[in-house]
Amino acid sequence: MSQTLLVRNGRPMGGPACDLLIRDGHIAEIAPHIVAPDAGIEDVAGALVLPGLVEAHAHLDKSLWGMGWRPNDAGPRLIDKVDNERMLKRAINIDPARQSARQVVLSVGHGTTHIRSACRCGHRDRPVGHRGRGRHPRGVCRHRRHRDRRVSPVRPVAPPRHPGTDGPGDAGRRHRGGGHRPVFGMDRDPKGHLDAVFALAQKYGRPIDIHLHEPGEMGAFSFDLIFERTRALGMQGQVVVSHAFCLGHPDRDLVDPMIAQLVELDIGIMSTGPAGRPAPPLKRLLEAGIRMCSGSDGIRDTWGPYGNADMLERVMFLGLRNGLRRDDEVELAFGVCTSGGASVMRLDGYGLKVGARATCLPCRARPSPMRRCPVHCAAWS
Ligand SMILES: [Zn+2]
Repeated sequence: MSQTLLVRNGRPMGGPACDLLIRDGHIAEIAPHIVAPDAGIEDVAGALVLPGLVEAHAHLDKSLWGMGWRPNDAGPRLIDKVDNERMLKRAINIDPARQSARQVVLSVGHGTTHIRSACRCGHRDRPVGHRGRGRHPRGVCRHRRHRDRRVSPVRPVAPPRHPGTDGPGDAGRRHRGGGHRPVFGMDRDPKGHLDAVFALAQKYGRPIDIHLHEPGEMGAFSFDLIFERTRALGMQGQVVVSHAFCLGHPDRDLVDPMIAQLVELDIGIMSTGPAGRPAPPLKRLLEAGIRMCSGSDGIRDTWGPYGNADMLERVMFLGLRNGLRRDDEVELAFGVCTSGGASVMRLDGYGLKVGARATCLPCRARPSPMRRCPVHCAAWS
């Protein structure tokens, strides 16, 4: 492949047609009628050109993608789903490396160029950092050696062990994504668990991504604990809370103080735009200045049969869930799945601009249906 590529006749973010010159994996020039005799040429014939999509919350190691259909008769409680997952993981060999690779290929095909993935590591699994073991994070990371170079290295988010069962493990010691915290309802010790997570993050200098599922008052209580520790440890800008269903509570007296503290502490929020749960109000949070990202969460796994890792479709889910209809509103949802994710993941050189890594996503936006043909020229090492 030529180290220089001229993407002809594209419309960056729907603007006027122009060319993009890409040298050594970076955008060198964006202008009409660029002359570059040494470049390979890809004429995208007036296609809309978007920046690479950012999958900021996946569970690569859990997907059953490519494994065929399995009956799902898990009970209604959270622990039923967790137990069902553990049972099937062994019974049908859900290999984390194989499944992660499959989902990465799927994501790349949809135009995703950056992925952050939680890694399953319940208290019956080996914790990350435990004598160098941790099959799931290793599986998720394996593509660093044999990986698809069209996507940047996956950033794993590693959970600690449950302190109520066997003491804190070394979450995220070697992983850039930092520690992640399963829902508080499982061990009924939110203070103990958060103390462990924050202590590990401090010890290894890693950011934190917390799964917070509790709705209403219980979620607000958990948020208070997170605010307290973020402030006390000076971790402003290094904490993300995923799902945060309690922010979708209709009582503004409950939600507004949480929003104020999220702003003050620069805590990011991840929302999938869930259909069946209260959702953080995307527009209100963005207007307040909160950094937001999104992700597919678990797809086609032991929890449910849905999902396809398509982050452009995720834009639609966010829009539907938040009642976004006008172009400027839809653009907000698109931003959450692109620049918002890049901001939360602290990605360097992201975007459709000169000097950025060349991760362009030409889309045949007219006539529908939209067809995508990613042009990935970044060379991640
Ligand atoms: Zn998740």
